[in-house]
Amino acid sequence: MNFPREPQSPIADIARQARELLGQVRESRWPGFEPPVRQSVARPAAPARQPAPAGRPTPRVTQTPAVQRIPPLTVPTAAPMPEAPSPWSTLEQVAQAVGACTLCPLHATRTHTVPGEGNPKPRLLFVGEAPGANEDRLGRPFVGAAGQLLDKMIRAMGLARGEVFIANTLKCRPPENRTPLPGEVASCAPYLRAQIRLLAPEIICSLGNPATQALLGVTETISRLRGRFSSYRGIPVMPTYHPSYLLRSSQADRNLTWADLRLVMQRLGLPLPGPSPARESE
Ligand code: SF4
Repeated sequence: MNFPREPQSPIADIARQARELLGQVRESRWPGFEPPVRQSVARPAAPARQPAPAGRPTPRVTQTPAVQRIPPLTVPTAAPMPEAPSPWSTLEQVAQAVGACTLCPLHATRTHTVPGEGNPKPRLLFVGEAPGANEDRLGRPFVGAAGQLLDKMIRAMGLARGEVFIANTLKCRPPENRTPLPGEVASCAPYLRAQIRLLAPEIICSLGNPATQALLGVTETISRLRGRFSSYRGIPVMPTYHPSYLLRSSQADRNLTWADLRLVMQRLGLPLPGPSPARESE
């Protein structure tokens, strides 16, 4: 885990809140990841697409007809999570199972479980690490300062939050936001695995070390894995930095993250805006 953790005591928790406020102030001064203006320019007529499978609505994200250069898919890993039959056939069933779960000790300290939310048939799935204090309080993923930055990143891609699905590797908050333990990740893995099977996204964007390592079954750090597609059970995975890290990191890391998101956009056939919305402070 290479981004700073939140403090370990009530006093330190105040410090953490202060840091989050500082991050928000930074955000207000640093308008990175501004969303591109939704083009009023009419896109060329879309090419014929394969009909959506029965029961699956047509994806809400419009594809451009231009033939995009698809970067080669590299598959550096073996399957990270052991395959097992899933007892759940809907996202709601997964969420209900998560809500009643006591498989790891985190159930004892959670306020709410955070199974995830978003478009049930997304083209793009974001997978983060674990709920934080705000997420634990509200039962929703990415609703604090990091969530606001993730929203910016999504808008910069020309998408809306409701068009994607957002989940975490762990569905309950680790105390003081510590890094998930291997046993916790293993206990919680069936839920994320079931969600991915039901969501069937075209691309997964893993945010930070724990999510990337859990999905890909690797121990390499995000700085080595980001910037190139890997694969989770045949689904392209683009690892990139976690928004919590970006709140405290450099402009250079934001630019790298934007480069990763542009690769995702390219593969999805989304219009590519300027070279970097994560520009220097104005
Ligand atoms: S973190 Fe996952 S495995 Fe642990 S109690 Fe919560 S839902 Fe269950």
